[in-house]
Amino acid sequence: MQIKSIRGFKDILPGEVEKWQFAEGEARRIFGLFGFSEFRIPVVERTDLFVRSIGEATDIVGKEMYTFQDRDGDSITLRPEATASIMRAYLEHGLNVQEPVGKYYFIGPMFRHERPQKGRYRQFHQIDAEILGVEDPWADAEILTMLIHYLGGLGLKNLGLQINSLGCPECRAPYKAEIQKFLQGRRAALCEDCRRRLETNPLRIFDCKKEECREALRTAPSVLDYLCPDCLNHFARVRALLDEISLPYAVNPRMVRGLDYYTRTAFEVVAGELGAQNAVCGGGRYDGLAQDIGGPRVPSIGFAIGVERLVLLLPENQNAPRPQVFLAALGEVPRRKAFSLAQELRRADIRVELDYEGKSLKSQMRKADKMRSPYVLILGDEELKRNQVILRDMASKAQEDLSFADIVGKVKTLMAKS
Ligand code: AMP
Repeated sequence: MQIKSIRGFKDILPGEVEKWQFAEGEARRIFGLFGFSEFRIPVVERTDLFVRSIGEATDIVGKEMYTFQDRDGDSITLRPEATASIMRAYLEHGLNVQEPVGKYYFIGPMFRHERPQKGRYRQFHQIDAEILGVEDPWADAEILTMLIHYLGGLGLKNLGLQINSLGCPECRAPYKAEIQKFLQGRRAALCEDCRRRLETNPLRIFDCKKEECREALRTAPSVLDYLCPDCLNHFARVRALLDEISLPYAVNPRMVRGLDYYTRTAFEVVAGELGAQNAVCGGGRYDGLAQDIGGPRVPSIGFAIGVERLVLLLPENQNAPRPQVFLAALGEVPRRKAFSLAQELRRADIRVELDYEGKSLKSQMRKADKMRSPYVLILGDEELKRNQVILRDMASKAQEDLSFADIVGKVKTLMAKS
């Protein structure tokens, strides 16, 4: 039987991959403008890292992680997200001691055993950015500004930025108790998962997409009414900075996010065009995460953009690469010469395509046309004798002879004009 890929693990083929390259390239460029450096983390970590940071009672840790025992008997997990690993590495390498403020970005695959559907996969990719070591609302506003600068610059429209404050552990505990009390009376109306969440992690119920659970929460108390004065003040200052630069947002007191480590500012960017899985980006502050994994207090904030969902919003075939010249050679000796001419052109930064199969001239011309090459260089025995090639302009069909020595210069001039 022919071997197929694993469910939820998607190939990214040429034709689509150009959109990925564009999204990733722009992220590097824009994040660079804001002074962020790239961070690379391992694909696997000790399971404990995620259990202690993301939280035992979350869906990710409870039922979605790819956890294995490796050959030494250690429990290891394919990373389901990047933030915990970045914090682990930041502390492990003492970066907090050298320069407490770290601004990092990361691009790479994540793994969660979720039910696959459009926009939801088991291996998916995130573009992350994190500001570590800053408690001031300035960091919240700056990372949100960078996020919208980036997404807007990709040409995405109809994006909605929703923000909320989840408070600190002190103000969240009474809120959690209040929500538990509120929902106890409505227990029967909740879905099976949420009935379980009611005992383990009641705030997660806000994440449930089921209509019955949303309805049950319709008149639920708002987290914003439970914030302590410090958290209220922090949130007000974040909003004032966003207002200062006229960045549009909506406050959504029902947005809670699926990871336990979030404190204070939480946010999501949604795109109307995406349907059910409409969150392109999620993020928030995680002031207690470093302590959760055994480190000092490092107040921080970050976001993760889902690249699969992002590219769904990009226009088709952005920068599909096409050759600048196609080298059509006929016969054994001209083909050998064409091989070395092609390398010479590539050394001069010209994108060259060749025919690998010794096909007829007609078939090679058809291939050049299909690849949308604007020019073809034709080399047969006759041309080789004269140390020349024929240059054909595919649009005008005009042809001219060119000596070998002039090829690179001529093609460069043509490329500069186009
Ligand atoms: P999270 O790490 O859960 O806060 O998710 C951040 C972003 O990653 C989401 O807004 C999605 O765009 C994306 N994302 C999360 N899970 C998946 C998944 N299973 N498949 C594709 N994208 C995902």
